Amino acid sequence: MRNRNLTVSVSEAQKIVLSSVSPLTSENVSIMEAYNRVLHQDIISDVMIPSVDDSAMDGYAIIADDTRGASKDTPRKLKITGEIQAGGSIIGKEVSKGTAIRIMTGAPIPTGADSVIQFEDTEEEAGYVKIFRETVKHNNCRSAGENINKGDKVLQKGDRLRSADVGILASLNYKAVRVYKQPAVSIISTGDELADIDEESQSGQIRNVNVYTLYSEVKKYGGLPQYVGIAKDTLKDTKEIFLKALKSDVVISTGGVSMGKYDFVKKIYSDLNIEIQFEWVNVKPGRPCTFAKKDNKLVFGLPGNPVPTLTSFIQFVRPALLRLMGAKRITKPVVNALLEEDIDKQSAKVHLLLRGYFTIKNNEFYVSPTGNQKPSVLRSMSDANCLIVIPENITKVKAGDKVSIQLIHHDEI
Ligand code: AMP
Ligand code: MG
Repeated sequence: MRNRNLTVSVSEAQKIVLSSVSPLTSENVSIMEAYNRVLHQDIISDVMIPSVDDSAMDGYAIIADDTRGASKDTPRKLKITGEIQAGGSIIGKEVSKGTAIRIMTGAPIPTGADSVIQFEDTEEEAGYVKIFRETVKHNNCRSAGENINKGDKVLQKGDRLRSADVGILASLNYKAVRVYKQPAVSIISTGDELADIDEESQSGQIRNVNVYTLYSEVKKYGGLPQYVGIAKDTLKDTKEIFLKALKSDVVISTGGVSMGKYDFVKKIYSDLNIEIQFEWVNVKPGRPCTFAKKDNKLVFGLPGNPVPTLTSFIQFVRPALLRLMGAKRITKPVVNALLEEDIDKQSAKVHLLLRGYFTIKNNEFYVSPTGNQKPSVLRSMSDANCLIVIPENITKVKAGDKVSIQLIHHDEI
């Protein structure tokens, strides 16, 4: 077991978490359920898309040479010998010198034609088409295999599926696809002071907020959240609720992991054979943050305050969930931004995460803190679109300085 009192840095904590995770097994799902799931197979195309040379425009399939010298005043006239719709057949249809075939977008290019002139550059008259401009070979034509060729690896094991990926699967005629299973994630709140959303709250009580933020985050990253309940601040209640929660792959609790007299979460771990991997992180907000394991199950004890609950989720739980689901991209993008206000970093040697809002002006990122940065103020997190990261070794930060910002709403890279 690790030294229980060890305070780890954010990056050490991330390494410890990731080295504890092995991906789950896989299952087949319909492509209609595949969005946000992570592929467990490579997707290699066994077809060409498009399957034949086809037209990219509504117009006329022609021989480009027949348009030589064409202009608004001196149109070339070609005889129309037929028509091909999208999905239509080209059997028996051929373009020869001086003729044209009316063609729709997506329809196969008939034999003999080497170009398509769009309707806008033509006018039809008594079985003939007048062409008002010159064109070149292959104009408005798409080649077979131009989008995807036979043998192309179009998607890879570990890719988290986005809408365009699901569209690609459909284009390759996949009805179902093999993906990693979703981790079941139990969520627990702790605290005598908590009133749930359907309870009347007495003066001094605090709304149970964290469960709902965490529930949303787990869903966002593709896990299966389950709200287990609120544990009262007693050993008995805390232990009972953890016993229920441990049926899942991951347990997330909030509150009760600090130095308070009624912080019971860590006190029940040893009874349940849950082994602590680290219990303090050198980050503000979010210092009391426990990561533990019971066999393959991951147990996160996040801080009670609503902001560090969420920022700690983003730094430690999110990558763990993505790794459990086999995702190969787990890093939130970090970019440089110019700070628009001074930041008061009272305590040097702590990794500071400030709630910020970035804007982009003349291709440069700018960032401002979103107001009150107390750990209980969720509003400034709700107003934020990034976290301003001020590492341990930096003590002074002024307006105009370059700082790192983590783009918390952007997909992983
Ligand atoms: P604790 O670490 O349990 O002392 O909690 C720290 C602070 O977070 C206290 O003010 C709690 O009332 C608050 N807190 C704990 N759990 C929640 C929760 N589920 N929702 C909102 N606030 C909470
Ligand atoms: Mg508490």
